[in-house]
Amino acid sequence: MATEKTTAIVLRLIEFSETSLVATMFSRDFGKISGLAKGARRPKSAFEGALDLLAVVRIVFIHKSSDVLDLFTEGKLERRFRAANRDLSRLHAGYYVAELLNELTDEGDPYPELYDAADTALSAIDGDGMVAKEILRFELTALTHLGHLPTFHECAGCGEPTPIAERMTFGHLAGGVLCNRCQSGQRQVAEVSGKVIEILRTYSDLNYVGWENEEFSSGAFGEMRGLVNHYLTNLIGKRLKMHTHLRY
Ligand SMILES: [Zn+2]
Repeated sequence: MATEKTTAIVLRLIEFSETSLVATMFSRDFGKISGLAKGARRPKSAFEGALDLLAVVRIVFIHKSSDVLDLFTEGKLERRFRAANRDLSRLHAGYYVAELLNELTDEGDPYPELYDAADTALSAIDGDGMVAKEILRFELTALTHLGHLPTFHECAGCGEPTPIAERMTFGHLAGGVLCNRCQSGQRQVAEVSGKVIEILRTYSDLNYVGWENEEFSSGAFGEMRGLVNHYLTNLIGKRLKMHTHLRY
């Protein structure tokens, strides 16, 4: 048992008793943590109302042995997610970031770069960022850090470079674009326009800072959303709740 401190994003809150909550957070230093926050529902507590969905919180917690819930002992609010009061699409986008973090990560597996990307995305979504672009950038950044980014430049079958063509083939199970030779016999294959792969190349290049200014046709963007949603559904093994609530 050790007392630890870290900064975390609140992903989920479940009422546990009249005064307590079970909270799931994604922390910078320890990855996902679930724990009991005793007294958090009281107006005066060691949490001072900091446990709010999508809030960034400085927390103190006692890390218990394997099968037992951790215990949150203190929380100090660093930033509240305010979009709830002004814009439903921003609120839904925030929930989607939380859902992705919750579904894509395991407890006790830290990814500081993913934490920073989520923090940045939530700030932009809660500010003036273009929601659809922020979401796509976050999805592809998360997939990169977690080692699940599909290949968009080379064939997922043979590794040969795949130039952009008018129509291209994407293998959901193969994990990327497929060249003409590698397409046959593949299951879960989608045919998409080359524009879709171009968008994905642009937004998955983490060294490219101009992504916010890239424009694309709404048709290609819609087609791209179908592809990314399908890929994530396959990867996670279930449909994400927020996919149906997002407007792009
Ligand atoms: Zn190939």
